[in-house]
Amino acid sequence: MNNYEINPGEQLRNFIKTLYPLDLDIEDNIQDENKCFIDRVDQFIMAEGSFRQLVYDSTINYLVRRLIKTAEYLRRKYESDNFPPEQFIIELRKFLKSNIRLDDNDCEKLLAILQICLEVKSKSLKAAMKRRVRRNLNDNQELRCYICGRALSSAKKEDIHTDHIFPQTMGGATEEFNLKVACKKCNENKSEYIDSTDFHYEQMCFVSEKGTQSFNIELERKYQIAVWAKSQYSCSICGKPALEVGRLDFGRINLSDSWHFLNMEAYCNEHQPE
Ligand SMILES: [Zn+2]
Ligand SMILES: [Zn+2]
Repeated sequence: MNNYEINPGEQLRNFIKTLYPLDLDIEDNIQDENKCFIDRVDQFIMAEGSFRQLVYDSTINYLVRRLIKTAEYLRRKYESDNFPPEQFIIELRKFLKSNIRLDDNDCEKLLAILQICLEVKSKSLKAAMKRRVRRNLNDNQELRCYICGRALSSAKKEDIHTDHIFPQTMGGATEEFNLKVACKKCNENKSEYIDSTDFHYEQMCFVSEKGTQSFNIELERKYQIAVWAKSQYSCSICGKPALEVGRLDFGRINLSDSWHFLNMEAYCNEHQPE
């Protein structure tokens, strides 16, 4: 059995980034009318480059998802007794070659990484590993959900989940480096989202003010997780993780702007800006 140091899904993501890098050569001195669409939008919504990065990261995640799911689709189709064992690889290679403009080397590399991504999907999480993940966390700190910071020491057994930080369905390894304890609610809402830019950030434009009931309704758990993930499950000021300080609250970067994904960050009690 393989031991991965980096999630196969992350290898895939890094490889796609090398194939399609974010072009950073476009500088401010270029005339407005010569800027590409995304830069003009970025300027229009006062995002100072972060929208551009967001769209890029989100698109890369979309490609990761599409490639893995397509490979899985083809494997299901060709891994039956009606076909020889190597048929799936032949079909996947054919698909990549005819649909994506890649040279032979890149195509073979992509093919190899995709196979590893599918391989990790089938590895089951054994009880012994779950126990180890919990024990590691428990050494010097209370057992908490790494996402929302909820204390889980007295939680019901079925409410304590072991979460793949990089989702297993997207090529996340079932190895200790990729596992953390999460509460049921966070684990289920995080689902197979890869990172914060993979959530539906475009839906996160709220009209209410924090502290009101309508704000609490607007900011559903999946959106809360998107903001926590954006801040790496840690306070944006001091860097202390929810695992240590408990639930991180939400705040705005620009207080005169509304509550939306790009303007939101997570903060600990001591660094709450409002
Ligand atoms: Zn939680
Ligand atoms: Zn802090």
